Amino acid sequence: MDNLPDLSSIWQQTLNWEPNLEKKAQFQQLYQKILQGNRELNLTRITSPRDFWEKHLWDSLAGITSELIDWQQSLKAIDIGTGAGFPGMAIAIALPHWRVTLLDSTRKKVAFLDQLYTSLGLANIETIAARAEELHKQAQYQQGYDLALVRAVGSTSVCVEYALPLVKIGGLAILYRGHWSELEDRQLPEIVSNFGGRVEQIKELSTPLSQSTRHYLYVRKKISNLSY
Ligand code: SAM
Repeated sequence: MDNLPDLSSIWQQTLNWEPNLEKKAQFQQLYQKILQGNRELNLTRITSPRDFWEKHLWDSLAGITSELIDWQQSLKAIDIGTGAGFPGMAIAIALPHWRVTLLDSTRKKVAFLDQLYTSLGLANIETIAARAEELHKQAQYQQGYDLALVRAVGSTSVCVEYALPLVKIGGLAILYRGHWSELEDRQLPEIVSNFGGRVEQIKELSTPLSQSTRHYLYVRKKISNLSY
């Protein structure tokens, strides 16, 4: 099986961070186990070493690279519709002092993730098999997280609807988007305010290997609006 590329200088130049040897080994293990899991489960179409590095590992961490987020703090994050574990699993490897919950509605994927994080020796992950729109109705999850991360789960408004009820007041929902249109830009403030939030930053980046465009939206939870 191929090895992931060693792109330490690109990590540094783009995100001002690089994985140490232990984290590089965990990323490599993660890659191998996801490729193995892909034989039975439809986990990801991103399988070449360079694509996996860029579109899964780098993109996951690019989303939490913002002056709005202090990596040194011990934050509690939930990754909604995590699939094969992105962005949450990559973040849990990079930042072992964070607690990361991986949420997906597909039980088989969650069972796979349970085996995966155990075999990687990650003690800062928990998983939940549930639908995002149901989870916030349970008191222990409602407004329970500093950060809610959503990548490739649905439209912007659906992502906001899933994420904001799970975020503490003062916390952030981070929406990972590829394409971003002017229309979405105009509609976003109203959608967000319906769920008690305010758009704080929209960051556009070009990915370092294939120069694809990415947008990361940072939505601050301002007030509790649990009437949804
Ligand atoms: N976030 C991952 C990524 O970017 O690689 C996976 C994206 S995949 C296209 C969408 C995932 O969201 C699937 O694993 C699906 O089971 C999950 N999903 C879809 N609707 C959901 C919901 N309402 N609640 C929880 N998970 C959901």
